[in-house]
Amino acid sequence: MTARRIGKARLEVIVTDITTLRVDAIVNAANSSLLGGGGVDGAIHDAAGPELLAECRTLNGCETGDAKITKGYRLPAKHVIHAIGPIWYGGDRGEDAHLASCYRRGIELCRSNNLASVAFPAISTGVYRFPADRAAKIAVKTVVDALPAAPGVTQVIFCCFSPQSGELHQEVLDSFGSPC
Ligand code: ADP
Repeated sequence: MTARRIGKARLEVIVTDITTLRVDAIVNAANSSLLGGGGVDGAIHDAAGPELLAECRTLNGCETGDAKITKGYRLPAKHVIHAIGPIWYGGDRGEDAHLASCYRRGIELCRSNNLASVAFPAISTGVYRFPADRAAKIAVKTVVDALPAAPGVTQVIFCCFSPQSGELHQEVLDSFGSPC
């Protein structure tokens, strides 16, 4: 996997468990209740401990396409950005725009909280069934487009859970910026 430079930021694809990453924020593919679920959401809550759920209970949920930030508690990551990806219904219900909005809001929350490093999972590509190739294009392009407005964000990790997902993201990333 080759990292790419976009302005001052280093973007890279990693295939690993996102709960192991020591970054300023990891992004959670949460559901609108913010009260936990399966997949990456379950793994993040398990690793962060019950304090995370306690803070999430105070947030009154979150709309699809939006995101809210909490502390990271027992995670190596300092914060968790809980983004609500769209459920895939075939593509005619604003799924692309909602997915893009998750990545944009993630970068915006990094900027407004002065966070420099962030890792995103492949939001909506698990239980929510968003096609993985289409999601990878939206993920990478949206982050690249959002970075100029967030110059303090200097490291972005696309944290994939399978080698196939990693390859899809790397292929898109290779079309932006320069190698580093
Ligand atoms: P969604 O409901 O948004 O589809 P899922 O958690 O079901 O959320 O899946 C989102 C993506 O996260 C999938 O690509 C899945 O393989 C991946 N994933 C699951 N567990 C982890 C983990 N511990 N670290 C990183 N990615 C994960």
